[in-house]
Amino acid sequence: MEKIISQIKEKDPNQREFHQAVEEVVETVKPVLDRNLEYRRQAVLERITEPERVIMFRVPWMDDDGQVHINRGFRVEMNSAIGPYKGGLRFHPSVNLGIIKFLAFEQVFKNSLTTLAMGGGKGGSDFDPKGKSDAEVMRFCQSFMSELYRHIGPNTDVPAGDIGVGAREIGYLFGMYKKLKNEFTGVLTGKSLAWGGSLIRPEATGYGNVYFAAEMLQTREQTFEGKTCLVSGSGNVAQFTAEKLIELGARVVTLSDSSGYILDEEGITAEKLQFVKTLKNVRRGRIREYAEEYKSAVYTPVDPSLNHNPLWNHKAECVLPCATENEINGVDAANMVRNGVVLVSEGANMPSNPAAIDIFIDNRLLYGPGKAANAGGVAVSGLEMAQNSMRLSWPKDEVDTRLKQIMHSIHKTCLHAAEEYRVPGNYVAGANIAGFVKVVNAMLDQGLV
Ligand code: NDP
Repeated sequence: MEKIISQIKEKDPNQREFHQAVEEVVETVKPVLDRNLEYRRQAVLERITEPERVIMFRVPWMDDDGQVHINRGFRVEMNSAIGPYKGGLRFHPSVNLGIIKFLAFEQVFKNSLTTLAMGGGKGGSDFDPKGKSDAEVMRFCQSFMSELYRHIGPNTDVPAGDIGVGAREIGYLFGMYKKLKNEFTGVLTGKSLAWGGSLIRPEATGYGNVYFAAEMLQTREQTFEGKTCLVSGSGNVAQFTAEKLIELGARVVTLSDSSGYILDEEGITAEKLQFVKTLKNVRRGRIREYAEEYKSAVYTPVDPSLNHNPLWNHKAECVLPCATENEINGVDAANMVRNGVVLVSEGANMPSNPAAIDIFIDNRLLYGPGKAANAGGVAVSGLEMAQNSMRLSWPKDEVDTRLKQIMHSIHKTCLHAAEEYRVPGNYVAGANIAGFVKVVNAMLDQGLV
């Protein structure tokens, strides 16, 4: 296995995040390969770490002043053993092939855990929607889709949103796809309700994260009532994670963006959260403005000279990172343990680095990795696809009940797999093993393709 990892690193030396994601999975599925020699003979690890297809393309667009810009577009179609490729699109200046490959790789296991028939993929661009006008974002999305449309379809590959891609971007992308293909189909998820979207899809990742975390707490006969929670991010996942936590009686005291974070010791109420939603989704402002609006809050800007993130260094029982990858390092994790944190549930993808994960596991924290804890978003995307195929729209309660059932089942599956491989309570191993076994068995059934 070490050989496989070093080959992956030699082949693509600059894809750091992809190496990190692969190493985590390989480490935890080793006992599965030891038990099943056929997996080794069939080179399943080598196959599952190589994307089925990588698409990279030029995205030219013009800004409001008539200036031409060129961005790079990506779609990594990682694995279609159990269903059409499914996974979001990320628009952020940090996007490169290594990041998209790591996200696509994680997505394969996550989608497998949801119990729905979805393969794994991910895409995006190094385009930064921040500070752009609606017209500029529209022109970019149209140009992006004018290439992507030939690679996707409701039975082939169904993208969705991620960082920088919300309802506005999905609308522009869908409009262009429809025009080019002359077809109204469920080719994207996260659509608006009036044209094929599902109720609860915007809420799903955040709500699902809290449902998963509540299941973890329940194993120690605890609930969120009265617990202090640190949440990072202030976008889609953070907003709905905070909303559900508040509803369950928790005290949420932090939110952040890439410029800094706010600490509100009095707790973020439903009313204050509504201010954040308008600030972020409508006015597209900065989280700093929260502290200007509410005097109970203190704003701390990012300090790149620090070796830790001060957001994670406050007294709390629960931590729910919902911003981006590697936002928690070993120093942060040690601070959390010292401050009495008992639970970490990841709304973001791979927010904890390997040193942090080791500390969580060594200290027996309830640690829910992103590919299990944030699977609610893609699960409801799967439900949106099902509704689109039937041309039906299920009521809110029905979708929410299904989401809860799916998160319950993912939690049970992780615990069961961890138990079977003698690492009880280790959700990382459980999620990786359960996701892996289902996908590789499907690959073997389908022959060497
Ligand atoms: P949004 O774009 O809605 O929000 C992202 C938030 O994270 C913003 O507050 C943003 O701040 C912050 N952020 C982004 N990049 C950085 C960075 N490099 N450093 C610090 N803060 C940063 O995205 P989502 O809420 O959709 O996604 C958040 C996380 O959840 C991602 O890891 C994503 O992959 C994951 N996820 C999302 C799902 C979904 O359904 N949307 C599903 C499953 C996982 P700023 O505004 O300053 O950029």
